[in-house]
Amino acid sequence: MSTIRLLPPNLINQIAAGEVIDRPSSVIKELCENALDAGATSLLIQLKDAGKSLISVTDNALGMSRDDLEKAVVRHATSKIPDDNLFNVSSLGFRGEALASIGSISRLSIHSRSPEDDHGWCIHVYGGDVQASSPSTVLKSHGTCVEVRDLFYATPARLKFMKSNASEMSSHVEVVQRLALVSPHVFFKIIHEEKTIFEVFPESHENRVLNVLGQKFADNAVVLDACVGDVGISGFACVPTYNQSQASEQFFFVNGRPVKDKLLHVAVKIAYQDYVPHGRHGACCLFIQLPKELVDMNVHPAKIEVRFQRSQEVRDAVISVIKAHLGSAQGFTSTHLSEAAISSFERDAHVSNNPYPSHNYSRRGSSFSAQSSHALMQFQSRYQAPSMPLPQPPFQEKEDIASFEQSFDSGVLGVAKAQLFNAYIISQGEDGFYIVDQHACAERITYESLKREMDEGGVKKQSLLIPVIVSCTGTEQEQLLSMANDLSSFGMDIEGFGVRDIAIHSVPALLKDADYSQLIKDILADLKEGEGSGGMLKTHLLQRLSTIACHGSIRFGRRLSEYEMNALLREVEKTPFSEQCNHGRPSYLKLSRGDLERLFERT
Ligand code: ADP
Ligand code: MG
Repeated sequence: MSTIRLLPPNLINQIAAGEVIDRPSSVIKELCENALDAGATSLLIQLKDAGKSLISVTDNALGMSRDDLEKAVVRHATSKIPDDNLFNVSSLGFRGEALASIGSISRLSIHSRSPEDDHGWCIHVYGGDVQASSPSTVLKSHGTCVEVRDLFYATPARLKFMKSNASEMSSHVEVVQRLALVSPHVFFKIIHEEKTIFEVFPESHENRVLNVLGQKFADNAVVLDACVGDVGISGFACVPTYNQSQASEQFFFVNGRPVKDKLLHVAVKIAYQDYVPHGRHGACCLFIQLPKELVDMNVHPAKIEVRFQRSQEVRDAVISVIKAHLGSAQGFTSTHLSEAAISSFERDAHVSNNPYPSHNYSRRGSSFSAQSSHALMQFQSRYQAPSMPLPQPPFQEKEDIASFEQSFDSGVLGVAKAQLFNAYIISQGEDGFYIVDQHACAERITYESLKREMDEGGVKKQSLLIPVIVSCTGTEQEQLLSMANDLSSFGMDIEGFGVRDIAIHSVPALLKDADYSQLIKDILADLKEGEGSGGMLKTHLLQRLSTIACHGSIRFGRRLSEYEMNALLREVEKTPFSEQCNHGRPSYLKLSRGDLERLFERT
């Protein structure tokens, strides 16, 4: 006798709900997506007890007729795949299971009214039990209001996995923010227990990004806009000096759909890896546009993952577009560096009993709009001409400048004025001054030139008249010899010497007088930490080489002549990513004239 049986429809819906509705914010996501698919331009989300007792979403779209309303709560009923072609879907939903799933695990009520009807209709589903539809007077004009009460009451096991109200609320806001980022023409409002906690009005796409992601993000963002083959990429990437401990400020959208995709996260990690400290993450908001047939949206029940048909192409496009745009944003370092510098000056001022007004340089939230348009203007002018050479001052003014300045061409970083502690160069640019860490800059310059040599066919070598012998263990010798080919392309020819040691016959030309045995020890340490493996090897070796090369050049603690200082500044301006050293630390920071005026209360 067979023991296999067909499951009852409500159990099927509850099983689907297990994947589609994994926490309360998934309900918000599905209901908002439905409203946006229906063409809503206004979404009001109301919550009680962080959504645990009530989630309601009201929209102003065209609503549903009585007949559609009855079908909407049935599983696999959808209006969104008209030609039965899954690759021709442009809506956010298409699986036809959200409302059926939600209805199976909660008390669901939908009121909807279409423009043709003079009143609305409503339907209730209690734990999967669909009630007869009836007239409704809740809606005064067309639209839909979906109310979900007592979520998971029908599947109590799930109730145990609910997190604290604060955690559920932050998940709700995140879900709505992601949708708001791709729907700038739509009004969104979240009210929790009578309190407005998120609100955005219809606006331009740039303003929406600014309002949702905040002033700090905007102040540090570079606009992206490029097409690589079939892959269109627009949006924003923040300068590397603005980095976070988590990848939480990375937002991805594929063909207008918010996604969380590992491939895209990895691509961003690679794009930033040379420029942010180990374990830190860049911030970005990427809108990726691809021909529909190249993306499979149907790989995840909640539709937050996608599969790219030519994934390598997408990955490479993301990496190259971010790198190219960040490279062209030369001279643009994170605003939080100068803010930190100013506040440390301010702390000193407090110590000396100077009653200082406390500034709040970055603000988010309700009082945002006036400020944000100003920030947007600054932000636009900044990215439009990030690396323009500064205009020369008019002739009369130029004569006032001390004569030595005229002998140096000035760039964005201006003219060197002084050196402090044999380590920092102070230079004056057109509208501010810079504090430049000479060692960090020299490191980046060497690193970038080694990279260039690598790309152009290998690092230039210098043969050693007498080979340098480095003592190792037997295993270390074996490890190093297995990498001999790689090391050779980095300019280092090695050979076994005796049973344990290594003989170095040539070194990178840039590294003439370095401590080679230290270099070998560093490489071995990298290998032990597993960091020398795969694609990371090249990056690590180059970083090691450039660090060592710098110890021989403009080392921390060397006095520089004016000529050397200015030559270094010009070199920095020419070098991509010179805003940070190879370890991702900032290499210079800027204080504007306005910052100084603020410090001395001249404003
Ligand atoms: P899907 O969105 O995948 O089609 P759902 O279960 O979420 O599946 O919704 C079923 C159907 O109900 C949708 O295809 C749509 O026709 C209709 N619908 C749901 N929400 C709304 C709404 N807010 N306004 C108009 N129609 C809606
Ligand atoms: Mg849906």
